[in-house]
This record gives sequence, C-alpha cells and structure tokens, in this order.
Amino acid sequence: MTNANWTAPADTALIIVDAQNDFCPGGALAVDGGDEIIPVVNALRDHFNLVVLTQDKHPSGHCSFASSHDGKAPFETVEMPYGTQVLWPDHCEDGSEGVKFHKDLIVQDTDLWLEKGTHQDIDSYSGFYENDQKTQPRFANGKTLTETLNDAGITRVVLTGLAYDFCVGWHGLDAVKDGFEVVVVDDATRAIGMPTEDGQSDSKQDMDAQLAQNGVKVVSAADLPQTLGVPQP
Ligand SMILES: [Zn+2]
Repeated sequence: MTNANWTAPADTALIIVDAQNDFCPGGALAVDGGDEIIPVVNALRDHFNLVVLTQDKHPSGHCSFASSHDGKAPFETVEMPYGTQVLWPDHCEDGSEGVKFHKDLIVQDTDLWLEKGTHQDIDSYSGFYENDQKTQPRFANGKTLTETLNDAGITRVVLTGLAYDFCVGWHGLDAVKDGFEVVVVDDATRAIGMPTEDGQSDSKQDMDAQLAQNGVKVVSAADLPQTLGVPQP
C-alpha cells in the first residue's frame, strides 16, 4: 500500500516522451495500447515538481519518412551520414492533428516543452541528443535538456511515454551518458516491438538489454515511490 500523496524527491524530474496522437491507436505510427498510458502518466505527474514534455515534430519530407527515400518502405532502414536510420510512415508533421498531444494528456503551464526532430536531415528519438549523437534539441530559451535539468538541480529522471524501444529508451541511454540516474515506468510506456534483422529478438528485447546494461531500472508505477526512496507508510 503506497501513500497516494507521495512527493518525488526534488532532484527527480518526470519526462513524458511523445504522448502524441500519431503514436496512439488511429495515428500514423500507432503503438499498440499507446493511449492506455495516458491515465497512468496523468496520475504520476502530480507527484513531481518538474515535468518535461517532449514532442516529436517534423517538417514535411523529413529524412525519417520512408516516403522521402525512393523505393523504401516504412520499417526498412537507410544509411544516413550519421549511421543507420529506421524509416517510418509520415508522422508528427508540423501543423497536423497527429503532432498534437493526446487529447486526454494533462499539460500545465509550468511544464517544460521540448520539440525534437525539427531538423530536416537528422532524426531525433531523444530530447538529449539527435540521432547523430552530437546535435542537441533546444528549448525556446536556447538551452539543452541536460543544461536545463542541471540548472534545476535534477540528478534523476523518470521516463514515461512512447515508444519504449525507440524514443523512451534512447532518452534513457542518453540520460545515463549525461550523468543522470534513470528509472522507466513500464506501465506508463508501450513498445513497437520491431523484429531485428537477424530475427533472433525484437527491438523491445534489445532495449531491455541495453537499459539493463546501463543500470536503468524499469519498475511499475505502483513500485515507483519505493524505487525513488520515498518513505513508505
Ligand atoms: Zn519522428
């Protein structure tokens, strides 16, 4: 039994990754059960002093769209100057319905809102680093996510949102790289689960392994307070 009124330590921020229409059922890049996370995320957010929302937002003809590459279909890969890139259906285009947050997601004025994927030639799964692992998305004030979290005294991030095996997972790996402790809430995320090229596993299993290797904890929302060291009744 956990205390419903618990508060996360002040050094811990909640990040809600890409809780957008296109990643929910009916969207262009729908993740199975993607909409089921919304009530879980909404229930979590009140426990945190700092909430960051990321929004995947692409110009039309973006390099991550299969339609931008002759002869390529969604979920195939292409070699970009920065490495291998999975190609997706057109999604989260600036100005579309799909780019908007899910209608039931609670958004507050105090939330920090970070757009990513806005560069035509670089995809960005993570809000820390774009897929070239060098360029960094920036808030409207010009600061990066790492700078912003550091300025706020944050040392640990709790990750929720879509999709676990791409944008959420990459946030986790980058956050570890930049010195943050990371916890993923498994019932506040859903995976795409793409088969890997060797057919031996899928992208969810691969991300499970990568996160475990990097010391990222994956816990349920019910177990989160204990994981964060919140005193239990
Ligand atoms: Zn995208």
